[in-house]
Amino acid sequence: MNAPVRVRFAPAPTGLLHIGNGRTALFNYLFARKEKGTFILRIEDTDAERSTDASIEAILQDLRWLGIFWEEGPDGGGQDGPYRQSQRLSLYRDDAEKLLGKGKVYKCFCSPERLESLRKEQLSRGMMPKYDGRCRSLSEGEISKMESEGLRPVLRFRVDKGMVVFEDLIHGRMNFDSDGIGDFIIVRSDGMAAYNFACVIDDHSMHISHVIRGDDHLSNTPRQILVYRSLGWQLPVFAHHPLILGPDRSPLSKRHGATAVSQYREEGFLPEALLNYLVLLGWTSPSGEEILSMEEIVEAFSLSGLSRNAPIHSLKKLEWINSHYIRKTDKDRITQYLLPYLEKGGIAVNQLDEKYLTQICVLLKENLSILSQVEEYLGIFFDEKFFLEEEAKAILVASQNREALQTVLRVLEDLAEIKGDSVSSLLAQLEEKTGRKGKSLYGLLRAGITGKMKGPELVKILPLLGKERMIKRLKMALEIA
Ligand code: GLU
Repeated sequence: MNAPVRVRFAPAPTGLLHIGNGRTALFNYLFARKEKGTFILRIEDTDAERSTDASIEAILQDLRWLGIFWEEGPDGGGQDGPYRQSQRLSLYRDDAEKLLGKGKVYKCFCSPERLESLRKEQLSRGMMPKYDGRCRSLSEGEISKMESEGLRPVLRFRVDKGMVVFEDLIHGRMNFDSDGIGDFIIVRSDGMAAYNFACVIDDHSMHISHVIRGDDHLSNTPRQILVYRSLGWQLPVFAHHPLILGPDRSPLSKRHGATAVSQYREEGFLPEALLNYLVLLGWTSPSGEEILSMEEIVEAFSLSGLSRNAPIHSLKKLEWINSHYIRKTDKDRITQYLLPYLEKGGIAVNQLDEKYLTQICVLLKENLSILSQVEEYLGIFFDEKFFLEEEAKAILVASQNREALQTVLRVLEDLAEIKGDSVSSLLAQLEEKTGRKGKSLYGLLRAGITGKMKGPELVKILPLLGKERMIKRLKMALEIA
């Protein structure tokens, strides 16, 4: 019987969660759910200088916001913890000692200066830099002498000649000549385990069955395999997915725009939209369907469905997906989502009638592909934000429109009040009295009453504004001419 599926997402808490890492977490999570396995969150914080608790908190928050949950992780649960590498140092020490005893690793006292000049020299000869093995065969005496002088060694893994071959679920058979690898560090001189070592000890002791990660780690995998072999451990299955590229086909980075999950949240992307978008970067549903709920994705997901080709980030596509989810969001949730953006736009939301607020939010969702765009439309509904855009002004001051505007104003003044069901009769009346129709009437109304030429449907805006406000705005429009 196959071992149970156990996968992990292992971020280094040195900054915000990148959408590329969010996508790695998502692929692991989906695979675990699909296979009824376990998804583990492990924090790789062995770089004490760059790791922060604030970053751990932010990563946890972003994952939860995306709808990605773990069964075992730093905040509780699980038999194989602790789930922070900084709390697992004794484990690494024990296995490093074991390997030292077996002669699989050795102490290296080379100074950073020597290593740097070695590197430069190799590069200048057109060679790939790698450690030259100077400390490979130090005698016991030499070692104790240097230690007694207070020199602190690193532990290096002894890489023997040969090929390292493995099957990657996405890339197929991978071959690495160990000659190109060079003896690599598994424990640094401060006693801290290096990534390629800690990762193996953890993946093994956490019973990880599948390692799913970005293909920027492909070159680490042969090193990790050598560590597995030296300890006599079984390998997990590896699946390295291509990284997200920017439009210029270089790895997605800050110079392409927002890269952090939290930036997308703040700009007004919905979690289900970002999640849906991320899964489509490198995976296609067998049905070809693009808008999919988490449940539908889980149902259709498979690792073998992941593409070998690097996906290209498209903000346009993300916005398209987001606008779809915004439209689908019900009235209470869309109001909750939009509140912070209204507040940011200067609207005193707690002084507003709740029903009015909800009606506005429901109306506006048709026009939004990102929540923060709501600020562009506030002038339509809130007097303190009302202003005439240039395009609207041009229509209002045109001499051929003045008379029609006067007529609209008179009709409105004679009106009792405007309600949802009386809009069409009002518009019919306006057509008759102004002798205008279609764009020539609606454009004028839109310009004079909302101050801008785009926005939700006029028939839906008018009843929300009410008679008095429309009159006030039309009078203003007449005055500017
Ligand atoms: N801490 C590594 C990273 O963030 C994890 C790589 C792995 O999944 O093994 O890239």
